Amino acid sequence: MKSYKSLSKELTLLLGASKVVTDKEILGAYSRDETSDLSAMPDILVRAGSADDVSRTLRFCYEHSIPVLPRGAGTGVTGGAVPVAGGVVLSLEKMNRIIEIDKENMVAVVEPGAVTRHIQDAAKAEGLMYPPDPASLESCSIGGNVAENAGGPSAVKYGTTKDYVLGLEFVLPDGSIIATGGKIVKNATGYNLAGILIGSEGTLAVITKIYLRLIPAPLLTCDMLIPFPSITEAINAVYSILSHRIVPATIEFMEQGAIDLAAQFLNKEIPYPEAGAHLLVRIHGGSEGDIYADIEKIGALPDVDADKIIIAQSPVQQERLWKARRCIREAIQAVSPVFLAEDCVVPRSKIPEFLVELKKYFESKSLRSVMFGHAGDGNVHIDVLKGDMDYDLWKGGLPELKRQIYQRAIALGGTITGEHGIGFIRKEYLPMALSREEIELLKRIKKAFDPKGLLNPGKIFE
Ligand SMILES: Cc1cc2nc3c(=O)[nH]c(=O)nc-3n(C[C@H](O)[C@H](O)[C@H](O)COP(=O)(O)OP(=O)(O)OC[C@H]3O[C@@H](n4cnc5c(N)ncnc54)[C@H](O)[C@@H]3O)c2cc1C
Repeated sequence: MKSYKSLSKELTLLLGASKVVTDKEILGAYSRDETSDLSAMPDILVRAGSADDVSRTLRFCYEHSIPVLPRGAGTGVTGGAVPVAGGVVLSLEKMNRIIEIDKENMVAVVEPGAVTRHIQDAAKAEGLMYPPDPASLESCSIGGNVAENAGGPSAVKYGTTKDYVLGLEFVLPDGSIIATGGKIVKNATGYNLAGILIGSEGTLAVITKIYLRLIPAPLLTCDMLIPFPSITEAINAVYSILSHRIVPATIEFMEQGAIDLAAQFLNKEIPYPEAGAHLLVRIHGGSEGDIYADIEKIGALPDVDADKIIIAQSPVQQERLWKARRCIREAIQAVSPVFLAEDCVVPRSKIPEFLVELKKYFESKSLRSVMFGHAGDGNVHIDVLKGDMDYDLWKGGLPELKRQIYQRAIALGGTITGEHGIGFIRKEYLPMALSREEIELLKRIKKAFDPKGLLNPGKIFE
């Protein structure tokens, strides 16, 4: 193989000097994503400006057998955007246009680098809504959301990214550009290629255009914070809410470890810092009457103490309620920059059993843990903090720690990740969740898209 120095010169001739970077300091910024304690340097960075740039870069890398890693905003937390095999990082950050909000067909057409929040804002300006709301939506890209099948608090009512992708344009490793689907709601023409690419973590093709389904925006939003003595009562209340035919837009929970940490980080400026669990419930409605009917029903549920409910309707009040939930990651990083972040999913009713068992296990190992997440859909964030533990001891214990968490999730009928994906840091645990036959099928799909194995190597099952 030619040296990366000469390959970068050829790429510069192909794409122009402004798009090809070899400066080590700049490359350093592309050596990591938001995964704790993981980095690897790329050899070349390409900042694509169009599908044609992507196609030419991929064809070049295909001819020279160079690994290529598509990258959005680098907010992934499983090492998906870390170039563990070196090679070219192909950044989509400059392809960030919202091409069109088609009000009549309720479709957004966007480039992959568009920031999720910007798409939501553009839809809102037309009275529409793009519901998927990963907590990172201020900075993550829609291409990354599609590649990870990102979800968020509103999945309980509105689903995840996969429920909104109507069509994709993508580029195969050999440079060919394919368009599938479009501004159509139904499509039974051939295999669902978009469905295969959603959640493929940059290992099958590079997504260059996305057609997103939009829905009418709700007229009113109201948030409620409800404290509980323990996580069991909180999850019982989730069941009661849903069984009373109330489908909130979000039902988020924080258990005591998460509340304590947020209270510490925010100098106690959170409601009910002494509670065993919080539920944060958001209701969307067409009128004040609808919203108040739901609030009254929730207040009357057996596990809920109506006198303690805090209701927020203005954006300022709402932000105050969400502050504790939103600050958790920052709060963890402030006390322990190195930590394990898991996002297992279990059937909703099993959340208390899962968390109580895990808590006991962590305590038996003197580990501090923080648990929070999406009570409405069973997706639980379990963060275990290294704290001041010796680094080698921590690192050596990680595989067993992960195995213990995954084993419990799977035994309860769940799986090892609900939204963050497998990436690099979970690949050796994939056989715990999928059968050998299923993994072999995934590998055959990978081969059909990427026969030379050049796209994001070292991820998911490699
Ligand atoms: C504070 C914080 C909160 C978060 N909250 C959530 C949450 O609530 N829900 C959730 O699901 N995730 C969450 N995440 C994780 C992360 O934001 C999501 O996985 C997001 O979808 C990643 O988008 P990105 O643009 O940053 O992708 P990157 O990190 O750049 O890439 C992620 C993967 O997608 C691939 N990829 C990116 N763009 C393309 C493309 N155009 N074509 C093909 N492959 C591509 C990459 O190769 C990589 O494998 C959170 C992360 C942080 C740091």
